[in-house]
Amino acid sequence: MTLDDLYLGMQVTAGVLGALFGSFLNVCIVRMPEDRSVAWPGSACPHCGNSVRPYDNVPIFAWFWLGGKCRDCKTPFSALYPTIEALFCVLTVLLFRRVMPDVADFDQAHVVAFLWYGWLLFAMVGLTFIDLRHKIIPDAFSIYSVPIGVGGAALLTFLGYTGAPDWQQSVIGATFGGLFLVSLMAIYRLVRKREGMGLGDAKLLALFGSYFGTYPALVFILTVSGLLGAVFGLVASVGKRSGMLTALPFGPFLAIGAVCWLFFGDTVVIRWAAWTLDFVPS
Ligand SMILES: [Zn+2]
Repeated sequence: MTLDDLYLGMQVTAGVLGALFGSFLNVCIVRMPEDRSVAWPGSACPHCGNSVRPYDNVPIFAWFWLGGKCRDCKTPFSALYPTIEALFCVLTVLLFRRVMPDVADFDQAHVVAFLWYGWLLFAMVGLTFIDLRHKIIPDAFSIYSVPIGVGGAALLTFLGYTGAPDWQQSVIGATFGGLFLVSLMAIYRLVRKREGMGLGDAKLLALFGSYFGTYPALVFILTVSGLLGAVFGLVASVGKRSGMLTALPFGPFLAIGAVCWLFFGDTVVIRWAAWTLDFVPS
């Protein structure tokens, strides 16, 4: 077996893990807004209540051999289920390649980093679909994950991993991210006399701070999500009454901004630095 085969095998393993966790993600997306346990009981058809058989619980593929329907009562299952599983499968493989670009990178510190960032991806995909449907961001995917952010940064610092902020930067980032949006909301309330962004968004910025540090990550994420939000808001308001802009949840845009930072942040910063240097007389 060559090293290339080994690396391919690792990516396939990451993809299978991603699909399985994508399946669990579906459970979280359906149950968390209803305050139901995500661990128990197993999946069942919402119509006839028959539990999904283990062989019909295979991520991505089962939906297709079932023809998108319950095996017993033929109630249609949303195509969103296999889509979310496939999405998380792809994101997990991309994350693996991002954290471990070479087979030689496979060691304890990099595996921890992969799992740590993997949790962030899991939370981002989960909150995106929950916020779109229910206009809420679960605490588990935002403020309760801040200790995972800080703890992971501390563990990675200890293991000598350099691709993450150290624990001090993580703590400062979490504090700053939270305070920043809390103060923005206070200003908005003073000026407009009503609520702007929800507290959930502030909790999310605290999470990003704990994973990425303060600067330039939070500036990048706010810029990307703000631009995306503005574009979608404009598109959504065309042909519809105003009020649409405030009705659009902001969490998914923040999540997309964070995923962009995770995958392209360093490239963008290096390009940006090179670009600004062009304007410095030498
Ligand atoms: Zn059924």
